[in-house]
Amino acid sequence: MRSVDGFYPSPVICLNDKEIPGLYVKREDMIPYSFGGNKARKALLFFKDIDDGDYDCVVTYGSSHSNHCRVIANMAAARKMPCYLIGPSEVSDTTFNSRLMGILAAEQTTVPVEEVSDTIDKKIAELKASGKKPYFIAGGGHGNIGTQAFVDCYEEIKEYEQSNGIKFDYIFFASGTGTTQAGLVCGKLLNKDDRKIIGISIARKNPRGRDVVLSSIKEYLEERYPESGITSKLIEENTIFLDDYTGDGYGKDSEGINMVIKDSLIRYGMPLDATYTGKAFFGMKDYIQKNGLEDKNILFIHTGGTPLFFDEIISER
Ligand SMILES: *Cc1c(COP(=O)(O)O)cnc(C)c1O
Repeated sequence: MRSVDGFYPSPVICLNDKEIPGLYVKREDMIPYSFGGNKARKALLFFKDIDDGDYDCVVTYGSSHSNHCRVIANMAAARKMPCYLIGPSEVSDTTFNSRLMGILAAEQTTVPVEEVSDTIDKKIAELKASGKKPYFIAGGGHGNIGTQAFVDCYEEIKEYEQSNGIKFDYIFFASGTGTTQAGLVCGKLLNKDDRKIIGISIARKNPRGRDVVLSSIKEYLEERYPESGITSKLIEENTIFLDDYTGDGYGKDSEGINMVIKDSLIRYGMPLDATYTGKAFFGMKDYIQKNGLEDKNILFIHTGGTPLFFDEIISER
C-alpha cells in the first residue's frame, strides 16, 4: 500500500511523438505530495532520517522560487515542526512557492547572498543554545540522502523496463545541484547497465558543474558501497553534464525555451517551466536532433516545478 510516507513509483508515459516515437517521460511532477517533483522524492528520505533521530526543527536554504523549500516546509508543518528557511535577498520576490512556504508557516529569512552561509550557522547555533535540536538540510536536498533518492528512482526505471519489455538508451533531465544526476549515475554503475545518462545543466558551467556531480557520486559510493570497486575513471566516463543550454543563467528563459514550453503543453498536455524542465526538454530535443537519435528509446525525467509554471503563466505567457 502506498501512503504519503512512501509514495513511489511515479508514472512513466509515452508521448507518442511522431518524430521521436520512443520518447517517454517519467512524471516526477506527479508524485502525490505538495505538487511533487524531485525535491519531494528527496524530502521523503530526509524526513525518514529526521523521524528516526532526535530533532524538533528543520533549517534549510533556498530562494523564494525554491521547490525544495516548499516541500520541506510542507513536511515540517505536517509534523508541527518549526521550519527555518534562509534565502538570498537577491531572489526574494513573491512566487507561488514562497506563498506556500508562508501558508505552511515557515520562517523565511533573506540576507545578501554572501551572508547566507554565516546566517545558517548562526541560526543553528542560536537554536541549539535555546535547547532546540535542529536538523540541517543542504540547499536543494544535496548530499548522500538526496543521492539515495535517485538511486531509488533508477531502480523504479529498471522495474518499469522489466515489466514493459523496453530498454531506454538515453535518460535526460535538468541538472542543478547535481544530486539527481549523481543518484541516477550511481544506479547505473551499481547495475553495470549500458546506456547514456545526460544531465542538462540549468545554470552551472563546466568544469565546475560536472565536478560537483563527480564528487557527489564519489561521496555516495564511498559511504554506502565502499567495496563496489567502481573506479574514478568509470565514474568520469559515465558523467555527462551538458552546459550548452544554460542560456543567460539560472532562472533566465529564452525564446527557444518559451516555444518548447508552449509546444509541450499543446502537444502532450505537459507543463514545463523555464528554469528547469523547459530548459532540459529544449536541450534534449536539440541534442537528439544534432546527434540523430530519433529512433532511440529515450526517457525524459520531468523533475517537477509545477508552481513555477503558474508563476510564468501569470507574468507573461
Ligand atoms: C531542483 C530541481 C532540479 C535540479 O535537481 P538537482 O538534484 O539539484 O540537480 C530540476 N528540476 C526541478 C524542477 C527542480 O526543482
